Amino acid sequence: MRIIFVSTSVGPLGSGIGGGVELTLRTLATGLVRAGHSVTVLAPMGSVLASTGSVVAPTDSALSALDTVGSANHMVEVDGALHVPSQTLGRAAPLVVPQNSVLENMWQRALELARTGDFDVVLNFAYDVQPFVEASECAIPVAHLVSMGSLSDEMDSAVDAALENRPGSIAMHSRAQAQTFGTETAQRAIIVGSGIAVDEYDFSPTFTEDVAFVGRISREKGIDDVFAVSAMSGRQVRAFGVMEDRTVWDAAAEKFPEARVHYEGFLPTNQLQRKLGMCAALIMVHQWMEAFGNVAIEAMACGVPVITYDRGGPAEIVRDGVTGFVVPPDDVRAVVDALGRIGSIQRQQCRALVAEQYSERAFAGRVAAWLGSLVRQ
Ligand code: UDP
Repeated sequence: MRIIFVSTSVGPLGSGIGGGVELTLRTLATGLVRAGHSVTVLAPMGSVLASTGSVVAPTDSALSALDTVGSANHMVEVDGALHVPSQTLGRAAPLVVPQNSVLENMWQRALELARTGDFDVVLNFAYDVQPFVEASECAIPVAHLVSMGSLSDEMDSAVDAALENRPGSIAMHSRAQAQTFGTETAQRAIIVGSGIAVDEYDFSPTFTEDVAFVGRISREKGIDDVFAVSAMSGRQVRAFGVMEDRTVWDAAAEKFPEARVHYEGFLPTNQLQRKLGMCAALIMVHQWMEAFGNVAIEAMACGVPVITYDRGGPAEIVRDGVTGFVVPPDDVRAVVDALGRIGSIQRQQCRALVAEQYSERAFAGRVAAWLGSLVRQ
């Protein structure tokens, strides 16, 4: 298949602002190319696709439809204003389109490319209604990989309309995520999970007493409880991720002065995995319905067990007592207790489960099967 990826419009790839979508896109681009497909990525200006050096270039006629082509990765960088992430807006808030929107600009390019006849399908990664509108104008099928749970009324309607117009065009990462859109939608959405390039993560048999938190520093990721776990357990927590909301961090630090939470910054995968691998466990104490939680499989690939609240995707990934512990949501004491039992988890098991179910190859295979069924419709 010849596939066009249209990236998220909230930040350039590699910035971390796009959260798990960035890693998902990169993994899929590489995995699909390795499986013999071609991938052309449209993404905001400044994007880097790091380890996707093998992504195939668009054909000459497709290239002629473009003004700018990022030659290194066969990625097309598109100019324009970034969008505000949906998770920072209220449910009823209209999804605002900025002047000279990068999302509109990316879709203009996507529609042009689709008309060349050189592509089979477009895969949308943005959590926004605009791509659903554009899909009706597109010369080839548009598939939507929805990256978050239900957050906005407008988005819910767009998802339902897409399922009506083109059944099979919506995929999600976990059953729990799909369920937030209602039972009927959940039954019709394709569940593809997620995946990582497992060989980019070294298995670490040795580790320290430190605990890891990986994610955007934001309210929904549960920073307050990260500090609470450190304070209650006496363990040092290493926090990796983009500092999205410093007020949340400062408030938690003030509330738990005895907590030892060290901010490590936002690191590229190769550095992140090295430091993550040295930790005794990853804690996932999110306040929102986490759609999947790429960081859970990244930690497990390093051999690091995961302790997660029973909320959203991570609870579908972690096998309680085998690759970590699933504890009741918002129960900080239960997280601390689980930390005390973490020695019973075999780190090799964590790695083995990821290699089996969440490898780049397995994930790309599921997505290729989904896209293939749309193309054949
Ligand atoms: N991440 C990273 N470096 C860091 C911290 C995080 O590359 O120092 C990446 C991590 O690999 C993961 C993403 O940030 O892919 C967070 O994704 P997740 O799906 O866990 O949450 P989201 O932010 O999408 O809600």
